[in-house]
Amino acid sequence: MHMISITYLMIFSINCNISSQGMINSSYETSSQTAQRGAWMIFFRALLSSVILLLGLTGSGLMVSYSWPVSAQEPQTKAVVIMYHRFGESDFPSTNISMDQFRAHVEELKTGGYNVTSLPKIVAALINGDPLPPKTVGLSVDDAYESVYTKAWPILKAAGFPLTVFIAADPVDQHTDRYMSWDQLRELVDDGVTMGSQTKFHPHMADLTADANKTELKISNDMFLEKLGKVPDLFAYPYGEASTEVMALVKEAGFVAAFGQHSGAIGSGGELFNLPRFAMNESYGSIDRFKLAANALPISVSDITPSNPTFGKPNPPLIGFTLTWPEHGLDRLTCYASHVEKLDLQRLGKRIEIRTDKAMPPGRTRLNCTIPAGNDRWYWFGRQYYVPKKVQTD
Ligand SMILES: [Zn+2]
Repeated sequence: MHMISITYLMIFSINCNISSQGMINSSYETSSQTAQRGAWMIFFRALLSSVILLLGLTGSGLMVSYSWPVSAQEPQTKAVVIMYHRFGESDFPSTNISMDQFRAHVEELKTGGYNVTSLPKIVAALINGDPLPPKTVGLSVDDAYESVYTKAWPILKAAGFPLTVFIAADPVDQHTDRYMSWDQLRELVDDGVTMGSQTKFHPHMADLTADANKTELKISNDMFLEKLGKVPDLFAYPYGEASTEVMALVKEAGFVAAFGQHSGAIGSGGELFNLPRFAMNESYGSIDRFKLAANALPISVSDITPSNPTFGKPNPPLIGFTLTWPEHGLDRLTCYASHVEKLDLQRLGKRIEIRTDKAMPPGRTRLNCTIPAGNDRWYWFGRQYYVPKKVQTD
């Protein structure tokens, strides 16, 4: 482990030396340019010292995170999960899919050679390390709007496609405008629909104390047991906002896996309590984007930094990961973040470091990285970050 860290530091040092050589050899520099460069060198050396210090301070955890070369590991289990919210409710375009768009998705799944299966089966395969048929796709809906019951489920049922609905207990209990009732949910359960949890009140969990989150999970699980006869196995973070602490609490509450709302394909070896899903809405619900999503393949990574998707500082964070699969195509990897136009990608063997000088704004920021896989398919890795508002104002 130590050797590996040292190798990493050496590469930093080598880069540093090359820079100084270049500076000395340049015959076109004015003295002010030289002074400027000198200042940059001091800055760079200070930066290097900080990195060394950081590596030392954070100890073995980070040392593991820079281990490479990494041998290619093709994920045993590969799948894609799609997420919807509302169906044919055009007054909510950001969470809605039009019925024409939805019918086109279902038609594609029927005719495009996909294996449409349930989320519990995908999760079980992930846990057991079992392979799944090529082009395995799972379907999910968040928030339990009535249009699931009236518009989407009849179409999915006719197609023989399983569905998981992630529900927050309160809006159902109060039968808030356009939410399903417990009776409607029980009908869906009888039809074979899987119910997952999205807590009681649908809070920004990463903003809550551990005790408040435990209460959310406990009360909602009790309500699901009482009203639907079963405590759900699967969880979806409200707004897709996860943190290391929240993930641990969800696991502790007895859930077997949890989903976020970031794009990407699922591959074994990833984070079982922060699984990606492709969100569909009117703007991002064309048949072309659906095909792109449904055909996505996982990019397997290890040693993600920052490991906690919720953070306050440093901001911008030092984003990085080590690519373990696919084996080839690293040079064609491109990454985009929702808060900046351009990201600087640094490649160190299989290690990718992503830099930007722009801080992530309070709330959610998404990162998407892709590698072309040929035949209009893409390897895809995504992540959602969350900057709590209270930290931002410190
Ligand atoms: Zn939700």
